[in-house]
This record gives sequence, C-alpha cells and structure tokens, in this order.
Amino acid sequence: MPASRGAPDVLVVGAGLSGLACAHDLLATGLTVAVLEAADRVGGRMRTDRLDGFVIDRGFQVFNTSYPQAKRRLALRDLRLRPFTPGVLVHTDRGRVHFADPTRAPRTATSPLGGRSVGVRDLIALAALSARDMLGPVRPLKRAEDHTTRTALAAAGISEEFTDLFFRPFLSGVFLEDELETSSRVFHLVWRSMLRGTLCLPADGIGAVPRQLADALPADTVRFESPVDRLTDDGVLLADGTETAADIVVVATGPGPAGQLLPGLDLPPYRVVTTYFHTAPKPPLTEPTLLTDTRLRFLNSCVLSEVVPGYAPAGSSLIATSVLGEDTEGRERGLRDALAQTYGTDTAGWTLLTARTVRDALPAMPHPQPLTRTSRVGPGRYVCGDHRTTGSVQGALASGARAAREILRDLGRP
Ligand SMILES: Cc1cc2nc3c(=O)[nH]c(=O)nc-3n(C[C@H](O)[C@H](O)[C@H](O)COP(=O)(O)OP(=O)(O)OC[C@H]3O[C@@H](n4cnc5c(N)ncnc54)[C@H](O)[C@@H]3O)c2cc1C
Repeated sequence: MPASRGAPDVLVVGAGLSGLACAHDLLATGLTVAVLEAADRVGGRMRTDRLDGFVIDRGFQVFNTSYPQAKRRLALRDLRLRPFTPGVLVHTDRGRVHFADPTRAPRTATSPLGGRSVGVRDLIALAALSARDMLGPVRPLKRAEDHTTRTALAAAGISEEFTDLFFRPFLSGVFLEDELETSSRVFHLVWRSMLRGTLCLPADGIGAVPRQLADALPADTVRFESPVDRLTDDGVLLADGTETAADIVVVATGPGPAGQLLPGLDLPPYRVVTTYFHTAPKPPLTEPTLLTDTRLRFLNSCVLSEVVPGYAPAGSSLIATSVLGEDTEGRERGLRDALAQTYGTDTAGWTLLTARTVRDALPAMPHPQPLTRTSRVGPGRYVCGDHRTTGSVQGALASGARAAREILRDLGRP
C-alpha cells in the first residue's frame, strides 16, 4: 500500500465545524494535526454555494451570536452579520400575527408578542419562562428533569392555543420536527440562546463561519478531496488506496460516514429537511423576518435577500422555504400555493432556482437528552459531531472541543 505524507500526531476525518474545532484545540497545544476532508472545501452541512449569482446555503440556516462556542472561537465582526428582525411573523387562518420582541424592537412595542391574539395569562407565563431561561444560571437548565418541549410549555403555564399559534410553528423550523417532542432541556437552552443573542446571517453566506475557523489553522492542515474509506490499525485508508498513519484518529464526519467508519457506533436518527429556493422579480415581503404557518404547510419561509441583499443579484429576490422530508413529486407546486396565500401575493411568476434536501440535517433530540457524550470509542479512536451533543453550531463546536480535551487527557497533557 503506498504511504502518504509524514504522520501527524492526530488525524481528524472531516472538516465540518466539529472537526475544525477539534483540530484547532489540538494544534494550540503543539500537537501536529492533519484534517482529511472528502469535499473540495470545509463546512460540511454549513457550506454555501453560488448559483446564477445567488448565494445558496446548504438549506436555510441561521447563525446565533450568543452561542458560547461561537463567541469564543469566531471574530463575529469579520463575518459581517446581518440580523433578522427580532421576532416572527405567523400566518394564521385569521390573518398575520406579528410577534415582536419588545425588549429589542421598540418601534413595534405597541403590539408586542402578538398584540391582542395572545391572552394575558399567556403573556405572563411567557415572560416568566423567558426571564428564567434568559437570566438564570445555565446549569439548572442542563440538569433539570427532562420531558418533551410540549410538556415543558404546559408546565410553564402556556396554553395549548398559544403553543399552536406561536411555539409549534416556530420550533418546528428549529428542531425540524412539528410535534414538540424534542427534549425540554434542549428547548430551554435554545430559547435562552435566542433571547440572549441575535439571529443573523453572514454577508457571504453561512459557509463563512467554517471558512473563518479553517483560515485560522496553519496552511495545509486540511487536505481536500481526501475521503477516508476505513480506519486501519495504523491510521486510515483513503479511497484512493493511500494509507495515512497516525496513533490518534478522530472521526468528525457526520452520522452516515461515522457509522460506516466506526461500526457499532450508537447514532440517533436524523431529521430530513428540504429547502426550496425561489427567485422573484420583487420581494413578497420587505422585511428581514421569518414567516411561519399555523397550518404547518412549511417550517418557515424568509426573503433572504431582505436579510442580506447580496444573496440575490440586483433586481431579484431570493426566497427560502423549508419543509420536513424529501422533495417529492408535486410538492413544490403545492408549496407555491401555500406561499401565495401566506405572502398574499401571486407566486406564478416565481422561479424555482433549486431545492436542497439534507438527509442528515439535525439529530433527533428526544428526552431524556444527555446533551453531550464522550468522544472515546476505543484506544486512540475518537468521534465528534453534532450527533454526540446537540444539533447546532454550538453542539458541533462543543463536541469537537470535548474530543480535543479527552485526547489531551488520555495523552497525559494538562
Ligand atoms: C438545513 C440545516 C439547517 C440548520 N440550521 C441550523 C441553525 O439554524 N442553527 C444551528 O445552530 N445549526 C443549524 N444546523 C446544524 C448545523 O449546521 C450542524 O449541527 C453542524 O454544521 C454539524 O457539524 P459537524 O461537524 O457535526 O458535521 P458536518 O457539517 O456534517 O461535517 C462533516 C464533514 O465530514 C466530511 N466527511 C464525511 N465523510 C467523510 C469521509 N469519509 N472522509 C473525509 N471527510 C468526510 C464532510 O464532507 C463534512 O465536511 C442546520 C443544519 C442543516 C443541514
């Protein structure tokens, strides 16, 4: 078997967020690290492509400025972040309801939190829940007894009506499931991060986030177009037949390949999402906001070019709409009708630019949810990725950090 370049101390397989974070933390201690990436660029699920002058993320995603790992690792200013309006617009059968965050949108504070559509009891319950999650220490949220999100909302005094009006449509786009069955621990942590941070998009697309992480690594750390076929006793075997030796291998690949490279690995099921990217001559909504639907015909929709004008060339708008599951026959046509209704506009002139299905978008996070699991899978073998933590930027980065910490501990390094 032909041998490849000199053996590093650690081989990281995969240059998504978790692999990049792991490599960064190991390099900072003086270890030598090589990252083997199957694709031609970093980012994995957080990559951005350009198509006919439009910026297309790998499915609709948002960046949250309050994630501790993101704050620690990224120069947020250099990402040139463009914010969404704080709040969400909900389409209901009786018209639109605007949920603004009164602490951050003073101009809309006259009708905060849905105006008259929400009863006083729900407003009080929501304020109490939000204050607890936002202002209290994080540890009790992580250690609290775990239930479903639906149970947690009911326990917080939120009525079923308000849950179905606001939380269910909104959270379906966050957790990629519409039954509110996600762990309440995860819900409280996500709610906290949303209240504390700003939802936004980098001016150059979501792929700018992993790119910035990769740019901070020494040149040539990441070896592109180097898919790993299997792990060997001495390191890894690449698909082209070359073997790279290393005593320590970290599998940071995402769930499918992780299961192949580490047979027997315990993996959660993953949520499938499809995002339809439509272009239109005029924006159907001139506000950088998220639109949700109480009938759950889609998870969320957004005029991306109103958030970041550079997502579309001049004279065009780019609209992203996500749905659960695959892009099936006729689905886009039905969706276009729903969008015509929710945006209150004729969508016949819209063009479908592309549809992106991500089959391993987010891990299912039912209760009880451990939030984080060890990266150790065998002597010198480690695994990281959002399937070991939570499906988020924070989760992926934290999982890479944990793998690095455990490697250093096993090497007897402080
Ligand atoms: C549509 C969508 C919406 C999302 N929305 C949000 C959001 O709004 N907010 C949020 O916080 N998070 C969101 N996420 C989640 C977030 O993007 C992921 O949790 C995170 O990017 C996962 O990173 P990772 O490193 O664990 O895995 P990945 O990003 O999957 O990285 C794995 C890497 O390994 C490489 N690889 C795979 N197999 C091999 C092999 N055999 N050899 C070498 N390399 C290999 C892949 O090419 C890839 O680069 C969203 C994800 C998706 C898909």
